[in-house]
Amino acid sequence: MFESLSDRLGGVFDKLRGRGALTEADVRAAMREVRIALLEADVALPVAKDFIENVTQRAIGAEVTKSVTPGQQVVKIVSDELTAMLGGEQEDLHLSVSPPAVIMMVGLQGSGKTTTTAKIARRLRTKDGKKVLMASLDVNRPAAQEQLRVLGEQVEVPTLPIVEGQQPVDIARRALQSAKLQGFDVLMLDTAGRLHVDQPLMAEMQAVGEVARPAETLLVVDALTGQDAVNVATSFTQQVPLSGVVLTRMDGDARGGAALSMRAVTGRPIKFIGTGEKVDALDAFDPSRVASRILGMGDVVSLVEKASQVVEAEEAEKMAAKFAKGEFDMNDLRQQLTQMQKMGGMGALMGMMPGLGKMRAQAEKAGADDTMLRRNVAIINSMTPKERSRPQLLNAKRKIRIANGAGTTVQEVNKLIKMHKEMSTAMKKIKKMGGLKGFAKMLG
Ligand code: GDP
Repeated sequence: MFESLSDRLGGVFDKLRGRGALTEADVRAAMREVRIALLEADVALPVAKDFIENVTQRAIGAEVTKSVTPGQQVVKIVSDELTAMLGGEQEDLHLSVSPPAVIMMVGLQGSGKTTTTAKIARRLRTKDGKKVLMASLDVNRPAAQEQLRVLGEQVEVPTLPIVEGQQPVDIARRALQSAKLQGFDVLMLDTAGRLHVDQPLMAEMQAVGEVARPAETLLVVDALTGQDAVNVATSFTQQVPLSGVVLTRMDGDARGGAALSMRAVTGRPIKFIGTGEKVDALDAFDPSRVASRILGMGDVVSLVEKASQVVEAEEAEKMAAKFAKGEFDMNDLRQQLTQMQKMGGMGALMGMMPGLGKMRAQAEKAGADDTMLRRNVAIINSMTPKERSRPQLLNAKRKIRIANGAGTTVQEVNKLIKMHKEMSTAMKKIKKMGGLKGFAKMLG
């Protein structure tokens, strides 16, 4: 899996890693090589472009933490962006509906759909202790239903008895009935495959979907087909509400283009990968683990992570000292807000402070994160230096001037002042609780 990409990237980063200093030209040169490596891995062009742009921007703007080299920092950025490209967080099956939870398996003929159905059923039975029933709705291929029955015996998962001549929607109805009556947790429906994406196939899947109301609709595609796999997934996405993708034959796929582009192009998560013909050759797809496997530099990544945690903790302590002395003014608040903006949201310090966690949650819920941060920074920028260091000067007249200057309302200015006050109060409480040491302990 991913061997050729892994080799190519390894070469690029070996060159960067040991260097003491990196110029913008170094970063750009490295990114040109990464871009070629991605395209050779058959990653979709727009996806590769976005990736390179994001990494370059972050790498050039990055403040290098002391105790790591710029090259190591770049490795970490690439690892982050690779994880994001692969889908970010690992996505599990969502089966918490009233049983039976239906998993509808869809895909083209020969993609590995029937084998994958059995693999997932086996995994649910052995790993999660679920009671699973499988049913084949494939009435086009004479041996399909029999194939699932045989696989069912292998993985010790029962299959719905075959009734000759019954049509897919009716089989789905009967399967649902049986699963309900016999108390199954999960019902897996293996739908018919076709050679190409065609209208009758889509219509059949939609009809089955209406009857079965699946909790999960998983598309099975062959990783070896590269960008075709992504194209197939795109066509399916337009017709059926896919909840995820399973990529089969990853064991034979040295390039990895389908896996790398799937999420970005289709917006659907890869939930599993097939890694062999055997019924236990199925892995959950964890983007960060896959990224680390591709880069083969897990040690560097965790080194940089630790280093930046140390810096964050140091900064937090410095800030805490200011709070404790009652010296936390609008300049400091602005610095905090800018920091949070850089981190792409409400940052660590705020989350760690009692009382402010709630505010952060509210802000995140409102989806106003970035806008709010930006607005608050603009408000502080509209204050005079005197006002910034002595917020108590802010009277009604000044607030109106500041609101106008920042292109916002007095109400928003008041909210910011309230935030500043709340942070100060929270910190005074911390001081009472044991001061800086207590705070440092909280940071872990
Ligand atoms: P379907 O037509 O989509 O139902 O495909 P099948 O489930 O019948 O699979 C077709 C072939 O692909 C079989 O020989 C499977 O053993 C094989 N296959 C399925 N998944 C994988 C996989 O992850 N790796 C490998 N190497 N072979 C697989």
